[in-house]
Formats: sequence, C-alpha cells, structure tokens
Amino acid sequence: MNAVMDVVAGELGEEPLLIWVDGGFPDLFSLPGLPWPTAVWSTRYLELSSFTRVLLVDDAISNMRRDLCRRAALTLIAEISLREGAADVAAKCAVGANLGRSWFVSDSNVMDDLEAMPISEVYVAVWFFGLAHEFGHHCDAEKFAIDPLSDEAILSFLRSGFDNIAAAPQLPFSFDTVLDQIRQQPGHPLHPRHLRGEVVADLFAAEVVLETLPGLMARAGAGRPHSLRIIAELLLAETQIGFIERCRGFAHLLQHRDNRALWQAHLLQPAAFHVRMVWLQSYLSSTIASMSATASTASPSTLRRWESVVSDVAASFTQSMAALESGLADAMRFALDDDMPVAAMIDELRVQRDEDKTGGTLLGFETRAFRELAASRQVSSVWLDAVVDALTPTRP
Ligand SMILES: [Zn+2]
Repeated sequence: MNAVMDVVAGELGEEPLLIWVDGGFPDLFSLPGLPWPTAVWSTRYLELSSFTRVLLVDDAISNMRRDLCRRAALTLIAEISLREGAADVAAKCAVGANLGRSWFVSDSNVMDDLEAMPISEVYVAVWFFGLAHEFGHHCDAEKFAIDPLSDEAILSFLRSGFDNIAAAPQLPFSFDTVLDQIRQQPGHPLHPRHLRGEVVADLFAAEVVLETLPGLMARAGAGRPHSLRIIAELLLAETQIGFIERCRGFAHLLQHRDNRALWQAHLLQPAAFHVRMVWLQSYLSSTIASMSATASTASPSTLRRWESVVSDVAASFTQSMAALESGLADAMRFALDDDMPVAAMIDELRVQRDEDKTGGTLLGFETRAFRELAASRQVSSVWLDAVVDALTPTRP
C-alpha cells in the first residue's frame, strides 16, 4: 500500500490521504475540497470488485455465468437497498438472488483471502486500480480538454457507445435528443467535462499500477510483470467498477422510479463506460508499446501491433462481459416486476433450506453479511423478516 501511495503522491505532487472503511457501504469515492487529495475506500468495495472479477474470468462457471451474474447483481442491489432503508426491495432482491442457488462464488468474508493473495498483476489491479482512480480525480482534467480528449472527440465516442447498446433502438430517446440535453446542461452525467474527469482518473490509475507493479513483484520474488496480464487485469478492473456502479445506480433508481432523468442516465451508463474503455485501451497500447520500444518513442508498426494485442485481449472477454450484461438486465427485470410472487418465493426458499441435508448451512454462511446487515439496520418489513428467517440455517 505504501508503495502505491508514494507513486500517487509523486504523480499528484501532494501527500494523499486515504480513509479506509472496514466493511460498510460498498463505496469508493474522492472527497474534493479538502486540503489534501482524499479518497474513501471500503473493504466491501474491494470484496465486490474481486468477486466480479471471478465471475468474469472463471472458466469453470462459463455455463452458468449469466445466472451467477444475475444473482450477483441482485445480491448487490439487495445490500444497497437495505442500507438505504428500502426493506421490501432488499427482501425481494435477496430472495431472487438465493432461490434455487446451488453454486457459490463468495462475495463476502473474503478479505483474508485477498490479503493472502500473491503479489501479481491480479493483486495490484484488484487492490489499487479503483483506489488510484479516486486519487486521479484530484488531477485537473480540464488541462486535457484538447485533442485527443476534446469535447467533440468524447461526444463522438459517446455516440458509438450509444450505438453499441443492444437495446438502443428500443430506448425511448434518440442519441440526438440526449446530445441536445448534454450541450444545454453542464451538470449532465454524460457531459464531456464529467466523462473527461473519469477518463483522466482511469489513465492516472493505469499509470500508478504500471509504475508500481514491477517494484512490488520484484520485491516479492514474483518475477517481471507480463504485459498481456497487465492489459487483461486493467480491462477487467474497469469492468468491475462499471458493474458495481451500475448496480448501485439501479438500486437508487428503484427508489425513484418515476424520475425520467435518472432513468435516462442509467440506461446510458454503458455508453459512458464505452468512452472510458476506448481511452483505457488506447492508453495501454501506446504506453506498453513505448515501454517495449528500444527508442524513446514506439514506431508506428510497434504501436499497431500493441493496438491489436489490446483489442485481442478485450475480445477474449467478450462472452463473459455479455453474460455480465445479460445477468444485470435479468436482475433489473426481476427487480422491476411488480407481479413477482415474492411471498410465495420466500416460502419456497424456506422449503429449499428445510429440504437441504445441511439445513441451509452453506447458503446461511454466504448470506451472513446480508443477515447481519438486516439485523443491524432499524428497518424491517414482513418480507425482510421472512427472507432473513428463510436464509438462517436450521443447524448452528
Ligand atoms: Zn471516478
């Protein structure tokens, strides 16, 4: 951690302050306006980010990836809703996440495993990309409001991101309407100024990881970093952030279902992440190309070679990213369906536990964080109490 904070300090020219929260809300954000560059980071965020990575890379789960992603999204939405006091939404999503669940990818109580992880490209990306991103928000992004990060360049990538959204033709607004709104509202979540801030923070984070990694791996006797692995892990880290952000945004949206502006911003989030991904990929190809070049700048052919390597690595995740996307859409459909027979599903969940030979021990262990959170909150509802009861193992 110290090595990373030293690099962050060197890049920002100021000592950063990290506020570390044990457990709590899955949060990661920067606090502008303090005398020091400050970021708040919860261990829960770290757990979720590593959990999302496993969902994306584990080949053993490829047949059920979409379902696991749906359950993961519902788990996260349930947790956030509970923290926001929306007990019924939390209960409904928790039952959706756990009814019929037979395969477990742990999303909580994994801090010990994360701390014991060997130092590698995976370790550094999981632990530090998101964290360094938040410190990256302390850079003056408007300095970069020129080519290639000009407003027009960002908007043109936003357009291609919009066209890439599978449901784009069915959305109740066109890109041109959105574009008019963006141009008129500087506070719009897709305003180039805002997106530029995110892109600059991402590139800052990638730079911190690239600078820290060789030293950390050498000190741990882990050899030299492997370029392909660095590329893969940074692209995955960006996807993890996107997934958590979108689940969080959706949980918030469930409390404000009539708010059209929130809906629009939520539906357009994939386009915003497309913009960030485009720049991250381009940064990685040019930086790794110059690192591997003998001269001070990479030749055009070296650059082209690394561009195609980066896009091949990105393409290798296409299927799992599509499963993540579909799983999230399934979770959203479930959460929005007011005709879902929640009470009957909770009864089924109880039957599932009672028919389990271990009395629901594994499910109980995996949902312990949710149950403890429900107990610690001053909110309750008939559904929430019933779900917590159905998730509680009958054997100690
Ligand atoms: Zn950010």
